[in-house]
Order: sequence, then structure tokens, then C-alpha cells
Amino acid sequence: MKPLNPIVAACPPSGIRRFFDIAATMDNVISLGVGEPDYVTPWHVREAGIYALEQGFTTYTSNAGLLELRSAIVDDLSRRYSVTFDAVSECLITSGVSQGLDLVMRTLLDVGDEVIIPEPCYVAYGPCVTFAGGTPVYVPSSPAFEILIDEIERAITPRTKAILVSSPSNPTGAIQPRAVLEALADLAERHDLYLVSDEIYERLSYDAPHTCMASLAPSRSIVLGGFSKAHAMTGWRVGFVCAPAFILDLAGRIHQYTMLCAPHVSQAAALEGLRSGDAQVAEMVSDYDRRRRLFVKGLNSIGLTCHEPQGAFYAFPSIRSTGLDSETFAERLLQAERVAVVPGSVFGPGGEGHVRCSYATALPLLEEAVKRMGRFVDSL
Ligand code: PLP
Repeated sequence: MKPLNPIVAACPPSGIRRFFDIAATMDNVISLGVGEPDYVTPWHVREAGIYALEQGFTTYTSNAGLLELRSAIVDDLSRRYSVTFDAVSECLITSGVSQGLDLVMRTLLDVGDEVIIPEPCYVAYGPCVTFAGGTPVYVPSSPAFEILIDEIERAITPRTKAILVSSPSNPTGAIQPRAVLEALADLAERHDLYLVSDEIYERLSYDAPHTCMASLAPSRSIVLGGFSKAHAMTGWRVGFVCAPAFILDLAGRIHQYTMLCAPHVSQAAALEGLRSGDAQVAEMVSDYDRRRRLFVKGLNSIGLTCHEPQGAFYAFPSIRSTGLDSETFAERLLQAERVAVVPGSVFGPGGEGHVRCSYATALPLLEEAVKRMGRFVDSL
């Protein structure tokens, strides 16, 4: 048989899934692995989805998505972050941030263009750049996972097209200080680079207010957002891209030919979530915050030093004190104590020496997980 696409064939499968396939074959496992809320979508949002089905909303929507939803998204961003996007030409509804990221990379990149990505970072970033014909250029972050502007500047070449950042971050939970994002905006301006900002966790900001990249660099920011995390809607597959019209015009062409539109029923449900879901989101966020405090305190108490994650629902403790690499730590912890975490190395070289633990898990399970992890660390 003729060989398949070599770029895709060279891309390893996600290091996250591999662990969960192993964990799925075992009993009594506490999974801190999957980046997914443990809440079911709030009832009024599910009801809106059911109602949409009852009404027969089973057709395509316009390619860009329901105008009501796009209007609600840009109004919401304007209210909370004082950014201005036009609902018609500067907002596109996608099937999750995942599709938005793919669209944006395919829109921005010519073959061989480079995208600078501070790491540790979300596992899909590099592959999405590569699949679009580009080259990911990873740069290290500070020990507290702050973006290092000097490192980014050093990595810029004539082929650099964009910088891809995420705050709050998966896997570290770090929120970039506003001053760092201002410096990033300034750098992008000086070197004429696009800023792709994955803000999927923006509502999950506990200690510091979120800064929307478009409020600092409106003419060159591409904001990716969605409903999966704060609205507990991972399975509905709804996200959005907000960006200047000339970018979305092209992204819309790819979307038109490859996706047509995001699911109609899901868009109707997301609209309900945006219109009247604030109270439920606030409740979930304050619950994550409670879990965060307890879990991070627990990790530190068993000798796994953990920077206070300020956002998202991940803790990224150091496991260096154990002398194990992150892959071995995760494998042995799973075998010995049946706690599933993700080795930090899957998020880039800067993630080595850490493991990612999702605290979107019920409090009693988090308490039990800390107990088991403590027993494991003591046994080494
Ligand atoms: N971006 C980040 C940083 C994520 O952590 C995730 C999911 O874990 C995604 C994007 C994908 O989100 P969606 O469900 O909207 O495709």
C-alpha cells in the first residue's frame, strides 16, 4: 500500500489518552487525569437542548453559527473585558476550541511558517501547527510557569508568524500577569506577529482577574473561547473564534467546506448557558476553588511542592523530590495506589519533573487521592 501522510504518521498519539486506556482496565482507580468537569451540564441548559430538539432545530445553522449566539458572545466579552468584536464579521462558532485552533492555524500558516509556543503547554498545540504545515517552536517558561518574553524574542526568525499562548494554562493552572501580556502585545506589535490566545479557561480565574488578549492587542489577537469547561459542556462541542474580520473571512471558508456549522442543538443550549447560566457557573467556579485550596495544601503536605495554580482546574506539582521521572512516577503511582495522573513530560520538556492532576473531582476523592499519593511517596 502507498504510504499515508508522513506528517500525520510522524505525530505520536496523545500521551494523556494512553494512561487512561490503562486506568480503564483497573478497578478502584481515582482519576485525576482527564481535563473535564465532573459536573453534568446545568439542567436549564440541557432543557434548552431538549427544547431545541422538540422544536425541530435539527438543521444546519448559518456557517458562522446562530447570529443570536454570536451576538451573545461578543456582548458578553464586551461586558466583562471591554473588548469590541462585530457579531457578524468577527465571531465564528466552532465545534469546540479544538476545531477553532485547527481553523486558525490553517488560516494563518504557510508551509514552513513558525509558531512560538511557551511550554509546558496543551498537547494539541504542536500537532495543530504541524498539521497546518507549520513548525512549532517551543520556548521554556519560568519555574513559576510565567511566559518569558526574552525567550520568545530570542526564538523569533523571519519565518515566525504567530505566538500561541494560553492563560489560564493547561497543564499548569498559571495565569499570566497583565504586565507580561502587555509585554507580549508590545513584542507582537514590534515584530508584526499574530497572537493566538486560547482563553478556554478564562472564567476559571480564582486569584487574579482574567485579561483578554484582545483588550491589549485588538488588531492582531485571535481569541479562542468555548463552553466546554466553565459551562460543563464538553460533549456538546461548542466554541468560538473572535478575531479581526480579514482573518475570520478566511477561517470561515475552511469552516464552510470542512464543517459547515457547529451542531444546531448545541448552539441553542450554549445560548441558554450564556444568557442565564452565570449563577451556575459561579457556583461551579467557587467549588473548584474550594477543591483547589484543599488539594494543593494536601500535595504540599506530602512533599510534592506545588505552585498555587491561579486558574483552570489543574495542579502541577513537582515530583523531583522522589527522584523519579514523570512517566515512571505516573505509571508506578497507578500500579501501586490506583491514582491516575498525567506525566508532565507530555506537555513539553519543561513539564518533566511534574505531574498534572485535575481537581475537577469530588472533594472526598481528592482527599483519598492525596492520602494514596502520600503513601506512595513514603514508600519510595
Ligand atoms: N484548549 C485547552 C487549553 C484545553 O485544555 C482544551 C481541553 O482540554 C481545549 C482547548 C479543547 O477544548 P474544546 O472542548 O472546546 O475543544
